[in-house]
Amino acid sequence: MNSTHFATRAFSLQDPCLLRHRPYVNGQWTQGGGPALEITNPATGAYLGSVQTFLPEHAHQAVAAAEAALPGWRALPAKARSEILEKWHDLILEHVEDLARIMTLEQGKPLAEARAEARSGAAFAKWFAEEGKRVYGEIIPPPQDDQRLLVFREAVGVCAAITPWNFPSSMIVRKAAPALAAGCSLILKPAEATPFSALALAELAHRAGFPPGVFNVVLGEPVGIGEIFSQHPHIRKISFTGSTRVGKLLLAQAAHGVQKVTLELGGNAPFIVFDDADLEAAVAGAIAAKFRNAGQVCVAVNRILVQERLFAPFSERFAKEAAALVVGDGLSPDTQVGPLIDKRALERLQALVADAAAGGARVLTGGKPHTRGGLFFEPTVITHAAPGARILREEIFGPLVALQPFADEAEAVRLANDTEYGLASYFYTRDIGRLFRVARGLQYGMVAANTPVITSEASPFGGVKASGLGREGSRHGILDYLELKTLWVAGL
Ligand code: ADP
Repeated sequence: MNSTHFATRAFSLQDPCLLRHRPYVNGQWTQGGGPALEITNPATGAYLGSVQTFLPEHAHQAVAAAEAALPGWRALPAKARSEILEKWHDLILEHVEDLARIMTLEQGKPLAEARAEARSGAAFAKWFAEEGKRVYGEIIPPPQDDQRLLVFREAVGVCAAITPWNFPSSMIVRKAAPALAAGCSLILKPAEATPFSALALAELAHRAGFPPGVFNVVLGEPVGIGEIFSQHPHIRKISFTGSTRVGKLLLAQAAHGVQKVTLELGGNAPFIVFDDADLEAAVAGAIAAKFRNAGQVCVAVNRILVQERLFAPFSERFAKEAAALVVGDGLSPDTQVGPLIDKRALERLQALVADAAAGGARVLTGGKPHTRGGLFFEPTVITHAAPGARILREEIFGPLVALQPFADEAEAVRLANDTEYGLASYFYTRDIGRLFRVARGLQYGMVAANTPVITSEASPFGGVKASGLGREGSRHGILDYLELKTLWVAGL
């Protein structure tokens, strides 16, 4: 490692060797050949360091390494793969503080959230270390007595993962752990804004003892690298988390080689408060599900629908709590809402507020860039947005939300489903019949009733409609990295 590439004092890690700045291919930190990518701290604008990128044509090296590593890795007993994943899990936990610091510095989220994210990544490593040992096949009653019909599950092959900047650590482990546990080899391309979190995880994977070529990280220009992933005949699956726009593009590109695809895309999460709900719990839940990671979360609340009788008291309390949130640098222990990722994100929020206001909406609190300047935006609550307002239709991805009243259950479900997306949805009620009716009516991959928490390694994560294909986490998460092979034996 060459320390001149970093503003090392800014990181001040317990283990400075976690700071890497080159692609990781075939068990080595390599020369990328592409231009350097400069990374800045979104809270301060300060330079953090630069990473070497790959020219897209060099991404072939990573594919070749993953291809060469595949047969040996796939042939290992599941328990041997599991032991390496367990080590990775232990190392992630051992380095939670450093991983969290790297995340907060390059992404902006409050340190407490970054610690929780590092731990959640570790939990995925542990979960899939276990699941890898439980990849069972089937024995099916055959049509004839002299036959046997067996089904095996086999690793898909070389996989590629493309991950976003909003959860720069856990999204990686959530893809890598099931792929590696299943016996696949993997090439990861993390987001341009947050490479240091990805490279720190690669350093820990290296220490955990994955054989060379099993886990690779390439950095660089996404369009070219994405095309290579899509066109390479040896890459059998692409797992992507990011925008619906890029997800659709990758899905179309995957048609070329009929690759398997897992897509975790955008959302437009409704948060419905029925008039029998526990008001305090609903306000607290909405605050948590809206403002975590400054709202830059695919399962973040986008629209809050409140039944008419509770609309005024809910709006008042929610706006008051939103206004009281502490906005600041994620390194400061009091901070609850960090900066946005970049200037484009800030300008987009301003445009969404202006569009809503032009249609007659009212701003209850916030509405503009924070007086701290830089990339900070005020926690913002809006009411009376016109039905066609962008804020109701687009994924917001920031600390901004619109409240809408509704009359009855049928209207709530209709408004909630009136979107192209179908990732996360939330509702609060104390009526058990309504709870199951509404859960059934919501066209979403995930429904949370009376809680703002919708993710865990044990639970399937994913969406319907334009929000994606496939599931991550749970026992289903590993099935996406396995193919069925049928063995038909006759003449016994
Ligand atoms: P966001 O809007 O949250 O940045 P993106 O979908 O643009 O979401 O980015 C998510 C990930 O997809 C990042 O790693 C980014 O580099 C990558 N990406 C962006 N465009 C492409 C593309 N054309 N092909 C492959 N990957 C891409």
